[in-house]
Amino acid sequence: MMRKRIFLLLAAAMVVAAPTFGKNPKNQKVKNVIFLIGDGMGLAAVTSWMVDQHYDMTAFDRAQYTGLCKTYSKNNRVTDSAASATALATGYKTDNSMVGRLPDGTDVPNITEMAKDKGLSTGIVITSYLLDGTPAGFTAHATNRGDREDIARDIVALKPDVIVGGGRKYFVDPQYTSENLIEKAKAEGVTYVSTPEEFYATRQTPILGLFSEDSYPMVIDRDSDFLTDAMNHTLDLLDDNKKGFFVMVEGSHIDHAAHANNAEQLLFEMEEFDKAVNAAFDYADTHKGTLVVVTADHETGGVVVVSNNKDFTKGESGIDIKFATGGHSGTLVPVYSYGAGADKFTGVYENTDIFQKIKALLIRK
Ligand SMILES: [Zn+2]
Repeated sequence: MMRKRIFLLLAAAMVVAAPTFGKNPKNQKVKNVIFLIGDGMGLAAVTSWMVDQHYDMTAFDRAQYTGLCKTYSKNNRVTDSAASATALATGYKTDNSMVGRLPDGTDVPNITEMAKDKGLSTGIVITSYLLDGTPAGFTAHATNRGDREDIARDIVALKPDVIVGGGRKYFVDPQYTSENLIEKAKAEGVTYVSTPEEFYATRQTPILGLFSEDSYPMVIDRDSDFLTDAMNHTLDLLDDNKKGFFVMVEGSHIDHAAHANNAEQLLFEMEEFDKAVNAAFDYADTHKGTLVVVTADHETGGVVVVSNNKDFTKGESGIDIKFATGGHSGTLVPVYSYGAGADKFTGVYENTDIFQKIKALLIRK
């Protein structure tokens, strides 16, 4: 079923949870990190969303601190998601297409592994497929993002407390894997769930959730609550751990909408991501020691918000969302932070610095 976007609707009045812990970012020890990545979400994608919402309060307006992040990779000033996820997850720049591995072949540990080693709980919640560049950077080590079986095996071996998204076929189809990796995971004590409903009804971690054969559908073909619901259930499962948790949440299809130069789909994906960011900020308000960091791995589409009329001496006669490319761009991306330790994310810095800041606050020494 195809949904049609109604551009004119006003957003319902935004209900913001009574601010408590989240309001005092400084000198608060970080216990939990929720790291939200809008894949391909440049500043103009956020702006497009704000314009669509008639400049009413969006999640991005709630950010307490903001920064700007340089996304270039080791071998390309325009990164791909594999290299940028590696930078964000490990603190190392690598070549495009590589995940968790440096150009010389060295594997570098990611934040999910480090959090696990420290006894923290870990979660990955995404809307594409689990082997995709971004989640792979947070779970796997491979020379090429297309090394599917290697990445799937790394995910199964890592056993995050929760990892949910799409991509079932890569774990079972002989075309992609020499072994049924869902059966392997189950044999090792992992709870496998095949629908969001099954996931929400399960509390037995570790959980592997594969909700579609390939990527989970884009928002235009479903409601926009999935990412928020899946994140909230993950947070509910993980906050039993007194030591804390690290959770990565990705609005994966923002990138795909921008690749397709489809403004309507881009706004649908932003709607879903906005809901998840709001929910994460609400969580930080009600759970002491929670840091929320929101950024993009890179910009996609070369998005711009332009006036319909080039004569800028006149009043507005409408605006348009346009695209400069069907690929990625090298534009800086915004970083929004909220809650414990959020003040550390101001300034202009490298994508690898985001890892360093999170590591210093959450993993410590
Ligand atoms: Zn992309």
